[in-house]
Amino acid sequence: MQFVSTRGDTPVSLDEALLNGIAGDGGLYVPVELPSFSVAEFDAARTIPEVAAVLLRPFFSGSSLIGELDQILAETFSFPIPLTPLPTNNGSAALLELYHGPTAAFKDIGAGFLAACLTRLEGDAAAPLTILVATSGDTGGAVAAAFNQRPGMRVVVLFPDGRVSARQAHQLTCWSDNVLSIAVQGAFDDCQALVKSVLADATLASKYRFSSANSINIGRLLPQSTYYADASLRHHAETGNKPGFVIPTGNLGNALACIMAREMGLPIGPILLATNSNRTIPEYFETLKWIPRASVQTLASAMDVGDPSNMERLRSMLGEADVLRECLGVLSVDDEQIESEIQNDYVEFGFATCPHTATATYAWRQLDADVREQNDWILVATAHPAKFETIVEPLIGSAVPLPEELSAILSRPSRSVSIHANLDALANAMAEHFG
Ligand SMILES: *Cc1c(COP(=O)(O)O)cnc(C)c1O
Repeated sequence: MQFVSTRGDTPVSLDEALLNGIAGDGGLYVPVELPSFSVAEFDAARTIPEVAAVLLRPFFSGSSLIGELDQILAETFSFPIPLTPLPTNNGSAALLELYHGPTAAFKDIGAGFLAACLTRLEGDAAAPLTILVATSGDTGGAVAAAFNQRPGMRVVVLFPDGRVSARQAHQLTCWSDNVLSIAVQGAFDDCQALVKSVLADATLASKYRFSSANSINIGRLLPQSTYYADASLRHHAETGNKPGFVIPTGNLGNALACIMAREMGLPIGPILLATNSNRTIPEYFETLKWIPRASVQTLASAMDVGDPSNMERLRSMLGEADVLRECLGVLSVDDEQIESEIQNDYVEFGFATCPHTATATYAWRQLDADVREQNDWILVATAHPAKFETIVEPLIGSAVPLPEELSAILSRPSRSVSIHANLDALANAMAEHFG
């Protein structure tokens, strides 16, 4: 299949879209068309990798990776993605647990798939590919974990010194020699600006081969559709119903993957986006005007996005706000509501939710009773609460047990270098580490 830029550039192959990340005209790659499926086409698929193989095969037609799709998917889905029924008196609800990967957040799935694809595309290249990633917390850990020890691949992770939690910092700094972790004396915006200036620097470009792995790469988006396909198919097979999904939303990548799955014919009912106090999307639906703004800090920090970049994809694929608000719900959840919701979840479900997941459970609770009860709901859990223990534990008054994947990471030695936020300092740190 071909992929075209949201801003109109000429179509490219999947391989090129994966390697380029962003289109030459600054737009985002979208498939020229979405394949469409009937439920019966998935009858023989029993596991997530098998569902994913059916769903993603059309996107890989013409790609040099088509023969390796099954192995790529086996690597990506090396951990379970359970759909856990929730004990509730408010109709039928289940939790889609996307947090059993190496860094205990859903970004492990997209990052793992992208790493599996790029390693194969780059396997024979003479010089290593250097992946740059600026992170405010979660993305960098997932990308570092996904590329850790992969031959021909290097990662440079830039994070704001002192502005990520202790456990997040550890996840950014505990990897092998092919990962360079850099604490930048500045804010996340400084890290992002540094990545941009590295990519634009001719001297550095002649020394390294760069690519980026941020969430706009189509290789992060495609695999995310598969867990929505799998969960909806399982639910539909058991009950005959199309479940609704409630999705914690920041940059809109995870939710867009669900919307794409529904467009492709998967048995998915209503889709409800839950944002934090960054209200760009809810205000767009209300006023029909797209007004991106600076982000505000919230407890659900991985969703602190004031200019969700995947909206450009959604608008080019489906339409503008007048169309979008007919087929999507959205609710903004503030910090106070997140805090009380973490407590409600703990009391009702018997386990803690992370601040991001709590936006979704809160939004589900706010549904009109008849809407809530007429549909079966799948609430999307994007991170394990133990990643955000400093927020969650005081609220529930007890410790959140550390899952195995997190304790494995926290027991690894960590190392990083600290730099001033300027290009020379970064170039020196890279030269010192990679030679
Ligand atoms: C990144 C992230 C989100 C937001 O996902 P988007 O695809 O950016 O909408 C939500 N929860 C957690 C834990 C995340 O890391």
